[in-house]
Amino acid sequence: MQAAVGVQSPPAGLPAGTRAALTAGLLAWYRESARALPWRVGEGVAPDPWRVLVSEFMLQQTTVATVKERFADFLARFPDAASLAAADLDEVLHAWQGLGYYRRARLLHACAREIRDRHGGVPPADRERLRALPGIGPYTAAAVAAIAFGEPVVPVDANVARVLARLFAVEAPRARATAEIRRLAAGLGDHRAPAAVAQAWMELGALVCRPRRPRCGSCPLATFCLARRRGIETRIPVAGSGRRRPRRHGFAFLMRRADGRILLRRRPVEGLLGGTMDLPGSSWTAAPPDGPPPFPRPGRWRPLPGRVRHPFTHFTLELAVWQGEVEAEPGEPGWYDREAMAGLALSSLTRKLLRHAGIEPPPAVRGARRR
Ligand code: SF4
Repeated sequence: MQAAVGVQSPPAGLPAGTRAALTAGLLAWYRESARALPWRVGEGVAPDPWRVLVSEFMLQQTTVATVKERFADFLARFPDAASLAAADLDEVLHAWQGLGYYRRARLLHACAREIRDRHGGVPPADRERLRALPGIGPYTAAAVAAIAFGEPVVPVDANVARVLARLFAVEAPRARATAEIRRLAAGLGDHRAPAAVAQAWMELGALVCRPRRPRCGSCPLATFCLARRRGIETRIPVAGSGRRRPRRHGFAFLMRRADGRILLRRRPVEGLLGGTMDLPGSSWTAAPPDGPPPFPRPGRWRPLPGRVRHPFTHFTLELAVWQGEVEAEPGEPGWYDREAMAGLALSSLTRKLLRHAGIEPPPAVRGARRR
């Protein structure tokens, strides 16, 4: 028994037989129930570290369903670190379309260049050197080390944290529970089947020990689970302060010239949606704007009804869209018709704004076109 808040039976203190039974139950379930995903290989097959690394970058903030759709195309285009390192950022951002959070694409690009320049084109095989690469934090380093290189660690993402919090009845609020959950995970790495065990914990969180309604009836760990035994599984993990995500406000300007083309700009490479194309707009402020915006150029302007909301990690953006028919100098760059937009990296926010104005953006196409 530990002094830590609300925790019993830490793995380090579990009798060896119990820990082995827990791992065996988990593995048997995984071998039976794991989803076939394009980045997974069967046991006994050596995984390609580059594919593992790319999948972990994609899965950082994107659902499995979306990554499943985009993974094969991305890997067909960039089958190794060298091919991604040799691409220009435009191509990478374009190929990343649909996955969101474009910062990851920029970091993956930088990561590929470092792998090419410093590691002979292959991701390094240990957590410490993985951790030193751009875009790789402790979780991704642990996941790649376990899955691609067989390091006996259990990477703790939100799914795994939830399973462990329930299994060991960690009743501290989420923020305070983090260190405790990491400590619990550290006692659960497995030397015999490290890749399968790491993925089994993730899969159990995704498929069975789900956030709202854990499926305890089909859980291979139910007999070990303290939260289940106490009937508190739906109360764990304990939420934090529950503060509402702050909101930011601004304007987007949809400018059309006489031939129907629309003005798009490229966002600065550093920062949110960096390097993608979007509509010109105002800066984003905490307070809602008071009155109409200063328009970027003269024209016939009208507000479109409603607002476009878009969630970012730390805030929700709310944009009012103004449409203007404006003059443009002959040969002025940045004006696109729908066909020309097909070759651009349009962020999901830009796609939302276009739809709000009644313009269906072109689908993301396979293969980037250089501008
Ligand atoms: S028994 Fe229920 S709460 Fe416990 S680990 Fe399994 S699914 Fe999660």
